[in-house]
Amino acid sequence: MQLKTATRLTLLPPYLFAELDRLKKEVMAKGVDVISLGIGDPDLPTPQHIVESLQRAATDPKNHRYPDYEGLESFRRAAANWYQRRFGPKFDPQREVCALIGSKEGIANFSTAVVDPGDIVLIPDPGYPVYYSGCVFNGGEPYFMVLRKENGFVPDFDAIPDEVARRARLMWLGYPNNPTGATVDRAFFDKAVRFCLRHNIILAHDNAYSEIAYDGYRAPSVFEADGARECAVEFHSLSKTFSMTGWRVGFVLGNAELVAALGKVKTNYDSGVFQAVQEAAITGLEGGDGDKLAEYCAVYKERRDLLVGALRSIGIKCDPPRATFYIWAEVPKGYSSVSFTERVLKEAGVVITPGSGFGKGGEGFVRFSLTVPSERLKEAVARIKALRL
Ligand SMILES: *Cc1c(COP(=O)(O)O)cnc(C)c1O
Repeated sequence: MQLKTATRLTLLPPYLFAELDRLKKEVMAKGVDVISLGIGDPDLPTPQHIVESLQRAATDPKNHRYPDYEGLESFRRAAANWYQRRFGPKFDPQREVCALIGSKEGIANFSTAVVDPGDIVLIPDPGYPVYYSGCVFNGGEPYFMVLRKENGFVPDFDAIPDEVARRARLMWLGYPNNPTGATVDRAFFDKAVRFCLRHNIILAHDNAYSEIAYDGYRAPSVFEADGARECAVEFHSLSKTFSMTGWRVGFVLGNAELVAALGKVKTNYDSGVFQAVQEAAITGLEGGDGDKLAEYCAVYKERRDLLVGALRSIGIKCDPPRATFYIWAEVPKGYSSVSFTERVLKEAGVVITPGSGFGKGGEGFVRFSLTVPSERLKEAVARIKALRL
């Protein structure tokens, strides 16, 4: 028989990382001690009190059953309270908050909830790849908002043609930004919300890195902008904040109608987050170990300063980001994102991510993750230096 899979799978860009994965395996097979600065997955462990909370909750048989689709009420309340303490605005845990199986799940399913075939979706380029796949899987038409260095890696809303804005249903934004490390202030969200309200566009903000910040920078929420509740949702994740990437828990909050629409998709596709994980997440959100988070940010900051200093000393241009654990660096003259990434992998045994893997707008850049100890970062730069670029 001839197997036929869905045409929508062919709409994904060619998997750029497949060739790099193959190359990485080849280098490792030679016995090279590969240093991986490729993925954004914290090496620092989940704080102990959160782990213990899971251990306790896992023994309770009531947590072994199907969870509520929208999340435990106590989880939604803890999320709304955490959010209010951190950002100010108040949300109703019943109607305006929903638990997610990691924010990636919610980001992907949100497109299913709001995008119709033929709708334009405004997507930052470079950007987190899920914005794009959610769009095309649902028949949406992507319009890329290019993030340029000279604009501080934020979109220029005035450059979006009127006929595009008219047909747009949804806009994605994510600050502090992956992959560029760019940050914004509240005034930027004022502008974004004004644009979306004027053109009847739903605004989805991805705030996964709100707590990974340095030098006194405080990342804002989209709901600090006037009018945001009329058009917006915001995605939060415990993954980066509490070093919980493997646990799969996050939440969305915002406009009740939009949260309900996402909930409707989810009740048809999944059956919620393991309740013991929600109990542990409540423990994290309620705080009591704030120092741990400050300690983790201090670790990332030390690595940031070390890596930025070392890269600059060998002529690679980059700026220290005020948030996220990524360094977005310009590739040296004579290279593309991919050719530089390949040379660094093959000859230095260091895995980095080509900027073009996040969209055409990322060409000319590479991303370094700060998720390995300082000693390894030093070793990585020493090896890159030996290439005499
Ligand atoms: C890590 C990340 C997420 C989501 O992670 P989850 O583990 O699914 O919560 C969302 N957006 C961006 C930009 C990320 O880097």
